[in-house]
Amino acid sequence: MADAILTATDLVKHYPIRGGVLRRTVGHVKAVDGVSFELRKGETLGIVGESGCGKSTLGRLLMRLEEPTSGSLVFDGVDMYSQRGRAMRRLRRDIQIVFQDPYTSLNPRKTVGDIIGEPFDIHPDVVPKKGRRRAVQDLLDKVGLNPEHINRYPHQFSGGQRQRIGIARGIALNPKVLVCDEPVSALDVSVQAQVVNLMEQLQDDLGLSYVFIAHDLSVVRHISDRVMVMYLGKVAELGTEDEIYERPTHPYTQALLSAVPVPDPTLRDRRDQIVLQGDVPSPANPPSGCRFHTRCFKAQEVCSVEEPALTLRPDGVGRHESACHFAAPREVIATVDVSGQQTDTAWSDEPS
Ligand code: SF4
Repeated sequence: MADAILTATDLVKHYPIRGGVLRRTVGHVKAVDGVSFELRKGETLGIVGESGCGKSTLGRLLMRLEEPTSGSLVFDGVDMYSQRGRAMRRLRRDIQIVFQDPYTSLNPRKTVGDIIGEPFDIHPDVVPKKGRRRAVQDLLDKVGLNPEHINRYPHQFSGGQRQRIGIARGIALNPKVLVCDEPVSALDVSVQAQVVNLMEQLQDDLGLSYVFIAHDLSVVRHISDRVMVMYLGKVAELGTEDEIYERPTHPYTQALLSAVPVPDPTLRDRRDQIVLQGDVPSPANPPSGCRFHTRCFKAQEVCSVEEPALTLRPDGVGRHESACHFAAPREVIATVDVSGQQTDTAWSDEPS
């Protein structure tokens, strides 16, 4: 796609499991197992899924904090995984990360000025030494903190303020892409909204593209243009925010959305919640065929044998990508053959 800034193709990350006296490889944890997607310029791509679905490993692969087992990642026309030394350092300036926990990701012994100015030590050509204090103060101002607090330590700030410091550090080098790994999960709800609003403002001002990794579906909906749902190292469904939240076709997405807390008790009582059975299987030994078949309320025989491809499927209005043999909007129970052709449709409010 012409406006893609980051293109991941078939990314795989398997971690060896070692056992026995000789510490031989006895298996692999398949944390990320063939993930492809594009991040478009200026957009926010939300990545959601339960713990252990591989979303944080994927974030680290995008930053090249981990080397992939296989697959490619192209940033602005450059193959990232073939870059070395200075060329890779130059690329790192353009893709930065904001970590989850503002309480542990900031060094308590360093002042805020030192923390935010750290990227300038690694990339001294970005801001000359004499101009650093001014540059850090500008960054503090940009994220809504008092520039005069440059000499304070992290413990002198609240959780939300600390996450603002993390964001200031993330944007210090004027990156094009910011990978945000659960950036608001550790914060109170009211503070979450302020930090998300700040991120949206910075995106408009600086033309940033975000990969926003989170397990909170409401936050992801608020900030994302498109959403990718992951299950056990694979993409289950990918579409615009509207397609995923209004017309999900993958049973896993439908189950996740049905479990989102609803404050209105009337709506909550009317809601038809899908309760998933069992736990997420181990990524060291994922189920055959469709990885979701051991917990899926729509599973049929073919599901345990044949892995569904992530392809465009009808969603009741248009089409978007879903990796399910029987992908259909929740109200529609459709008989769909393995090639994705819909053969019969019936209406129901109940999951089949
Ligand atoms: Fe469920 Fe089968 Fe679809 Fe997998 S392919 S999500 S098991 S219906």
